Amino acid sequence: MSPAASYAVRDDTSRGRVHPEAPPELRSEYQRDRDRIVHSTAFRRLEYKTQVFVNHEGDLFRTRLTHTIEVAQITRSIARALALNEDLAEAVALAHDLGHTPFGHAGQDALDRCMKPHGGFEHNLQSLRIVDLLEERYAGFDGLNLTFETREGILKHCSKERAALLGEVGQRFLEGTQPSLEAQLANLSDEIAYNNHDVDDGLRSGLITLEQLDEVAIFSDTRRAVEAHWPGLRGRRLIHETVRSMINAMAVDLVQTTRSALKQAKVETLEDVRRAGKLAGYSPDFSTRLKELKRFLHDNLYRHYQVLRMTNKAQRIITELFQAFMADPRLLPPQYQHRARSDQPRAIADYIAGMTDRYAMKEHRKLFAVDETH
Ligand code: MG
Repeated sequence: MSPAASYAVRDDTSRGRVHPEAPPELRSEYQRDRDRIVHSTAFRRLEYKTQVFVNHEGDLFRTRLTHTIEVAQITRSIARALALNEDLAEAVALAHDLGHTPFGHAGQDALDRCMKPHGGFEHNLQSLRIVDLLEERYAGFDGLNLTFETREGILKHCSKERAALLGEVGQRFLEGTQPSLEAQLANLSDEIAYNNHDVDDGLRSGLITLEQLDEVAIFSDTRRAVEAHWPGLRGRRLIHETVRSMINAMAVDLVQTTRSALKQAKVETLEDVRRAGKLAGYSPDFSTRLKELKRFLHDNLYRHYQVLRMTNKAQRIITELFQAFMADPRLLPPQYQHRARSDQPRAIADYIAGMTDRYAMKEHRKLFAVDETH
């Protein structure tokens, strides 16, 4: 492995954990963070949470868990290519979607609407809330007591009003500084993963077609290059070769562009990273091509009537659960009733956000179907 870059995050300069702990014996601080995330309950729930397709729609579509593993994989490759702290980048990637509600963005939007009068709901802040507070596993503290650097990486965006309430981890939004490169790249790896796997899942589901994707330059150019290399290639293999080649091209452009940005800004230390503008990014031409792909997915997949039908049902489930618990908090499980005594709406949001898709559907049936007994 190449020696770490001078601007990589290092264990010995970490701003540490809220509750001080002895250094790990065998692992780095960020390996310990990663391991705590993988052992958390919230991480296991990702398996049954929607990315785009609801779990019961098919066994081969991405779930939040397989999406998260793909993001971690891409982030690690990029972090290694840039000689950054691979363990930190991986930890941020593995935690990035912990706060997602059931039913993907539809669930988050519905819960946010319900929570509007009570401070709103945002999955990114919820991820931080989980690792800081909601996981109940350790004897000495609530949450996972992760390092500052992992926590700041999880908090990708935040309004100034909310940042002011978050202490040290919200500081950068008030100062206008950047997080580590490891965090910036984990964030961009999320996009690389979903833009590509949504093409793959979209084609697999039949909601989008290869003919439609031919209108998207980055896809059609890549597909033509694959066909030139493998004449006569068809079906799933053609799709997979095209998608894997797009993932590679995105990662390569991101690494090269970020490398030149670092050189140009004469970045030498982590402090330089924090004070420079956004350093991680794509070349202008590549950015335009990526935007076109995103727009295509937005208009043709995320807005497909079959996806919208599911979205609509999901929003109804989340909204009705919220309203039922607000009307009578005694319907909550005991541990949430306890939390509800100090902040009822937030306790309900925590409970609903933690549900898997199937748990939410079951809970909805238990509350609303008279033939369900308990
Ligand atoms: Mg994600």
